[in-house]
Amino acid sequence: MSNNKRSRGPAAGDPTPEEHSSAQRALDILDRLERAYPDHKPLLNYRNPYELLIAVILSAQTTDAQVNLVTPALFAAFPDPCSLARAEQSTVEELIHSTGFFRAKARNVRAAARLLCEQFNSEVPDSMKALVSLPGVGRKTANVLRGALYGLPAVIVDTHFARVTRRLGLAAASTADGVEREIAALIPPQRQYSFSMRLNYHGRYRCHARRPDCAGCEVRLLCPYPGGMNNAEAEDPVTKQSRVD
Ligand code: SF4
Repeated sequence: MSNNKRSRGPAAGDPTPEEHSSAQRALDILDRLERAYPDHKPLLNYRNPYELLIAVILSAQTTDAQVNLVTPALFAAFPDPCSLARAEQSTVEELIHSTGFFRAKARNVRAAARLLCEQFNSEVPDSMKALVSLPGVGRKTANVLRGALYGLPAVIVDTHFARVTRRLGLAAASTADGVEREIAALIPPQRQYSFSMRLNYHGRYRCHARRPDCAGCEVRLLCPYPGGMNNAEAEDPVTKQSRVD
């Protein structure tokens, strides 16, 4: 038997050098964002899975703060899926009116509640297939629920996440599903939810759509955006050095 250890050549499915360096950079970015944003709970208020499901459906096209204003009265009136399933459309519309698109949202939350009540024993399911069968629930909402409620792998592609991952050069796809696949290939499953939440915060608080605050950005020297590492003036706002340690 030979003692020579032969190194294995690249196999199908192995990352290319470019993919490998993107994956390492993505993890370095995540390390820094975990320090910048230590808490990564959803900004929507909820006390149980049912409430988070309804709150996330209501959050489409509006702010989490706006949803948090209407959900206390909604959940006081309809504290579980079966009670919301029996609610009058007009009553729900009135309660959620200020979140916008209130007719469609009222229809969706009532129909989702009915399915939970009748087919899921009033429990929020954890599988992607079951979640996207609920009215008003697409992959983004399903991933929020899978990550926040069940600790499952979840890449949550919302407007902030898509913008920041593109600026960071980690995603190039033009569709949410494409971005989700690209990021899922870079980030280990157990860290995907953390990555999603931190990137979302970073998009809200630092990497704004119109004027990103590159000078104050914690991941500046890991970012190829014009205000980032390719800016000759760039220094790390955390260490005040011109390279990331
Ligand atoms: S350097 Fe600028 S563009 Fe890059 S992540 Fe930071 S704020 Fe966004």
